Amino acid sequence: MIEAQLRANSAALQRAYDRMPYSVQNLLTSARGWFLTRNRYAPRMFSLLRELRGHEKWTSEQITAFQLKALQKIVRHARAVSPFYSDYPELNLRTCADIARYPVLNREVVRENGDRLASRAVQTSERIKVGTTGTTGASLQVTYSEPVARRHWAFRMRQWSWAGVKTRTPRITFFGSRVVPPERTEPPFWTHNFLERQTLASIFHLSESNASHYIDFLRQNSGKVLEGFPSVLAILADFILKTGKPIPMRAVFTDGEPLYPFLRESIEKAFATRAYDLYGNTEYAGLIHECEHGQMHAIPEYAYLEILDAEDRPVGPGEEGYFVWTSFVNDAMPLIRYRIGDRGCWQATGPCSCGRNFPLVVPTITRDSDTLRCPDGRLFSPRALNQCLKGATSLRFCQLLHERPGHVLIRGVASSPDSYADLMEIQKRLQKVLGQQFFVTATLADAPIVRAGGKIPLIIQHGQS
Ligand SMILES: [Zn+2]
Repeated sequence: MIEAQLRANSAALQRAYDRMPYSVQNLLTSARGWFLTRNRYAPRMFSLLRELRGHEKWTSEQITAFQLKALQKIVRHARAVSPFYSDYPELNLRTCADIARYPVLNREVVRENGDRLASRAVQTSERIKVGTTGTTGASLQVTYSEPVARRHWAFRMRQWSWAGVKTRTPRITFFGSRVVPPERTEPPFWTHNFLERQTLASIFHLSESNASHYIDFLRQNSGKVLEGFPSVLAILADFILKTGKPIPMRAVFTDGEPLYPFLRESIEKAFATRAYDLYGNTEYAGLIHECEHGQMHAIPEYAYLEILDAEDRPVGPGEEGYFVWTSFVNDAMPLIRYRIGDRGCWQATGPCSCGRNFPLVVPTITRDSDTLRCPDGRLFSPRALNQCLKGATSLRFCQLLHERPGHVLIRGVASSPDSYADLMEIQKRLQKVLGQQFFVTATLADAPIVRAGGKIPLIIQHGQS
């Protein structure tokens, strides 16, 4: 209940938080962490984790049998609890492929039917709502619940175990949390969540002039687990590599963006350890992650994956297509045959030398974006600025153009009459993040700026192509 109130008042709380002394911020981070920790490390998470580890010896037939049962269960559940599926006909699933008798849902449909997709079996106060922008900069609202988050955590902890890392190993986190007020110019740029042995570091204060502070901080925390967005960790890696002295970490886990080979190379060199990539999504729709042999496995207990071409026909191994997910994890917002917008292909070779029969998939996500380089030396990764776009559900695309030094133009493509208000809200947030030395303007456009290969970059930085 308190947690629900906290969520409802999050913007006002964030402002109050920003004004508090550092020691209080630490306490509050830990208090917020207490809710998460209690849920993440509940006995049911550990029992699921043990169960999942037992599945790693499954044969392909056992995997298929599990997925068929899980598909039958989620279809039954969705038709019973979610108004969106109430007029879906009953489906007699004899094989997993029979799910193809239901239509594919694209992102636009999910964006427009967010509330109707949510499960009526989850009380309104227990529903957790969060925005996600995907690869187009268009925001949609996702509903999940504490049990969904806990299940997801068990899957993440399984990946940790593949890397030989125990649960609750101390970790440094570089994701999108705003843990430090944007105006702060002196360290600390991080707060502590003591219960979870986690330090949350700001990705909004990276700059050439703060580089030494971040390096000192990481050096003091050497040997811990490091997790974050690849573009952010790569900025840190560049700082470190310039000093010529790597900062060894226990392991690196990346998420939220593609880990391109050139990013992996500098990250692994700077932190003198392996990076383990993960493809997940805010919708809890599907999960693919890397094993200790460097292969990406689609996780069969998390979701059923189809890879389809533009006409919704299955593609063969090695052929690129769209990911279409049926999630087994998010029963608070059942997604059946959800084409999320990301692409990839079944790997033609196999099985993996790690011995698991989980299918091998190569995500070919192309979140094309530059890094925003400010005239005063500050560096904003696409994931840092992406935070400003969340909740703006009426834009089909949104891009940030750094046309001249100190001038950013937000360029939105409308999908409804609310778009102008959403655009103004993004402008306000971005202005706050970038500060008064920036001139932020916004405009509605008919179409996004598309680069060669069909990529739609989030940030377009002048001087980069
Ligand atoms: Zn493997």
